[in-house]
Amino acid sequence: MTAVDLTNPIFTDPDAARAHFEAIRWPGGAYCPYCGQFDTVKPLGGKSMGPGWYHCKDCRRKFTAAVGSIYERSHIPMTKWLLATHLMCASKKGVSTHQLHRMLGLPYKTAWFMAHRIREGMRELNPPPTGGEGKTIEIDETYVGGKEKNKHRSKRHSGVGGVAKEIAFALVERGGKARSFHIADVSGKTLRPILTAQIDDASAVVSDDGGRALGACSRLHQSVNHSIGEYVRGEAHTNTIEGYFSIMKRGIVRVYHHVSAQHLKRYLAEFDFRYNERSALNVTMPSGPSRPSPQWLASG
Ligand SMILES: [Zn+2]
Repeated sequence: MTAVDLTNPIFTDPDAARAHFEAIRWPGGAYCPYCGQFDTVKPLGGKSMGPGWYHCKDCRRKFTAAVGSIYERSHIPMTKWLLATHLMCASKKGVSTHQLHRMLGLPYKTAWFMAHRIREGMRELNPPPTGGEGKTIEIDETYVGGKEKNKHRSKRHSGVGGVAKEIAFALVERGGKARSFHIADVSGKTLRPILTAQIDDASAVVSDDGGRALGACSRLHQSVNHSIGEYVRGEAHTNTIEGYFSIMKRGIVRVYHHVSAQHLKRYLAEFDFRYNERSALNVTMPSGPSRPSPQWLASG
């Protein structure tokens, strides 16, 4: 299923786990998460607090490497956090909460909590517009199943083909990254702010012929026609985003069975993250202190 080496001591030995996490979190050495100082930080003796605690002489606060990360204020051992994180990152289609629960040897509810924390950490906050001069962005929407009987009566609707579906809208840069959004409808009112905030104006934007997303947004529609006109026929395709949606949908159907509307945006963040970090994750999993990149370990 995955490329995770389960014999790696970071998954069983608390000291190895802590050292691994500190190396990712503090590549330049320990610093104070409260005042940002390096020089005033000293490790505390392990006796009273337990190992992994540091003290800052400047602001007189104590902390571990987990402060400010998605692992902060958790009683779950770091070995388990690292294993859960690596399993979720390394599996192309994702890992179900039941699998995590069995593999971690932790209660189902704990595994569920951990999975959502990790997904939250995968979400990129306020990223700058993607694309630019000479870049092509493919955009499209897809429908993700949700079970009607699990919804409140007032929230049920007939959806597409009589089956209620949630709408995921995505933009994927060719040779670059994917961004997905859970949207209520494909109206221009819904899509325009997303397209404006997420896509650099200089990008060429492509959608398939039936793409309601494009038709809904007049400004981009024009730029799309223009872009397609400039391109040879072979460039005006949406193979990239179709490939992306197929991975996402297989993951959601086979691993998660169904995803509740409430949590869809977190699952989309998980698929975006794995797609966007695919080369880093494949090359260096599970060890290598510089990968995965530290920013996603930060909470927010
Ligand atoms: Zn400090």
